Amino acid sequence: MRKIIGVVLGVVAFVSIFAVGRAHADPFEYTWQQLAPGVWAGIRQDPFELPQEGNAVFVVTDQGVVLFDAGGYPVMGERIVAKVRSVTDKPVTHVVISHWHGDHMRGLQGIVAAFPNVQIFAHPFSRDFVFSTQDKWLKRRVTMVPNIRKNLAAAIDKNLDLSGRPLIPEEQAWLEAGLGETEKIESENRRTEYVVPTATFTDQMTLFLGGREIWFMHLGNAHTAGDLIMWLPNEKIVATGDIVTAPVPLMPSPYTGEYVDVLGKIKALGFQTLVPGHGTVEHDAEYLDLLSDLIKTVSTQMKTLVAKGLSEDDATKQIDYSAVEKRFTHGDEFLKHRFEDYVKSGSVAKAAYAVETGKKQAESF
Ligand SMILES: [Zn+2]
Repeated sequence: MRKIIGVVLGVVAFVSIFAVGRAHADPFEYTWQQLAPGVWAGIRQDPFELPQEGNAVFVVTDQGVVLFDAGGYPVMGERIVAKVRSVTDKPVTHVVISHWHGDHMRGLQGIVAAFPNVQIFAHPFSRDFVFSTQDKWLKRRVTMVPNIRKNLAAAIDKNLDLSGRPLIPEEQAWLEAGLGETEKIESENRRTEYVVPTATFTDQMTLFLGGREIWFMHLGNAHTAGDLIMWLPNEKIVATGDIVTAPVPLMPSPYTGEYVDVLGKIKALGFQTLVPGHGTVEHDAEYLDLLSDLIKTVSTQMKTLVAKGLSEDDATKQIDYSAVEKRFTHGDEFLKHRFEDYVKSGSVAKAAYAVETGKKQAESF
């Protein structure tokens, strides 16, 4: 299972790095949206833009600025600092990271450089994961971009993507544009220093700061075992981290046994604005329901297949996604391929198999 998930992650990582299609002058930029007075979301407007990075949200209070997620490269942390400084003279005092994945926290370096007294919070699982994997990542970064360049060149040369599908024009443009950004990514990787969160909490932390009320909650395991969301009860704004990723879900190692419950708790908040971990801002619960339907259809089918005694591989191959696939892809060929890579390749099905058989779930690094 780990091996296959590793392969899936490899594909996702590759696709992530080169998910662009539409060349941007600045591959690390956020599009800033003011969601309410003093509440700013840094959105990766095209979620497939190279490099594929998480959104960030900050809240200005009379006593300091509270930030949720910090982007995946030092320069992205620096971009957040520049935006903060353009709207307030208050320092960033608190950062909370939604989960341990690098695309949400390797930008912390830029925040700490500007505001050395900042406290960085995470769920204990996330803090431990960041701490225990930092050496591994720092070693891996040496070969990361050269390997991606090699794979990219081979894909363009053969006109086949990593899954063996002929490249459609949009994907070819996407891969070729990706090649143009690898130098910038390589130089950011080289200067990355790991920043480990300085404080943890298990269930909830509520900040009553400078006239604001800001909640951070662990609602259960979904995208990882350390997911935190940010909720602003007065503004009715929720930031979900990668529990919600759109327009196609990125779920390398989902906890399908709890996921639907977690999505239900987010819906029950009664939000007016939802900032996903990847993708554009949402204003209703339609996409949350779609994610629930995906987990439910896979879990229900898996229950029957396991009861019939099928092996993990056989059961995974038999899952039928037709009840939800078109609601994600709307027939778009590019999104169809992403749905195949991210979902149909089996990470959700294998997670559901683990739940049905009591197999221990692990998160690959
Ligand atoms: Zn992410």
